[in-house]
Amino acid sequence: MSAGRFAPSPTGAQHLGNARTYLLAYWSARKAKSKLVLRIEDVDSPRVKPWASQQAIDDLSWLGVSWEEGPDVGGSNGPYLQSQRMPLYRDALQTLIRTDRVFPCACTRKDIQEAGSAPHFDHEPAVYPGFCAGWKQGDALPAEGTYCWRFRAGDQSREFTDLVLGSRECVPAVALGAFPVTQKNGEPSYQLAVVVDDAAMGITEVVRGNDLIASTFRQIELYSALGLQVPRFAHVPLVCGPDGRRLAKRHGDTRLSLYRERGVSPAKIITWAARSAGLIDEHTHVENIESAIEHFDWSKIPERDTRVETDGFQ
Ligand code: GLU
Repeated sequence: MSAGRFAPSPTGAQHLGNARTYLLAYWSARKAKSKLVLRIEDVDSPRVKPWASQQAIDDLSWLGVSWEEGPDVGGSNGPYLQSQRMPLYRDALQTLIRTDRVFPCACTRKDIQEAGSAPHFDHEPAVYPGFCAGWKQGDALPAEGTYCWRFRAGDQSREFTDLVLGSRECVPAVALGAFPVTQKNGEPSYQLAVVVDDAAMGITEVVRGNDLIASTFRQIELYSALGLQVPRFAHVPLVCGPDGRRLAKRHGDTRLSLYRERGVSPAKIITWAARSAGLIDEHTHVENIESAIEHFDWSKIPERDTRVETDGFQ
């Protein structure tokens, strides 16, 4: 069975940009009669806010978004909090160690920033200079807590066809370099956790912001190294403020919880999302989340990020 998913990180409040991405994921899945899974990506422990998971669930429910599996409704692929799935990530790491796809790396961010080459993608760290890559199975490990495991990115070209952006290609070793699959504290990196979970939960379609394109190439490397099925990807445009920069606090408060408290109707947000994503014209209104499904089509979604004036909802 086909499946889509929502994967909020409870590191802060969900805002308009997140809402539009979730709505597109919802419309696509419902149109295709796929099931939907809600997974809370709470492995980045220092940044996780205790209130943010429940708030994300409340915000999504308020918009009318529903799911068949999740931390609140259960399901056969749980648990649905990444913090409760550590054994799966550890197993995947063991496979990568055993098959010599990773090496322990004690470099600091500064080491890499100073010696690494320029990244080929925007907003990405410098390409890892390879200092620790000579490690071999059986060599000693650095002291506990001082190293991460880094994946040896492949030097073969990787290609995938995005539902919004079309064909994308890069050579991971050159464009991205070796990348971490764990943090120094032993937690899995986002890249490893997301691949293990999307595969284990049977996710066939991943919808997310186009700022994650570089990550997708990393994840395709991991799917391949772990022998897992790669899902389809749709990288949707980001929502930007009037200055063309990614929507953030400087553009005013666009938290969904604020609109909810102020009595803004979900239909307003849903209509804005459908219009700004190119699904309906300026004169069309949608009454609720379900009535937008018929307008949904990936071919209508623009590649370019969207600029919005957001004051209209307040
Ligand atoms: N937890 C990630 C985020 O909120 C999800 C990224 C993804 O969809 O893979 O950015």
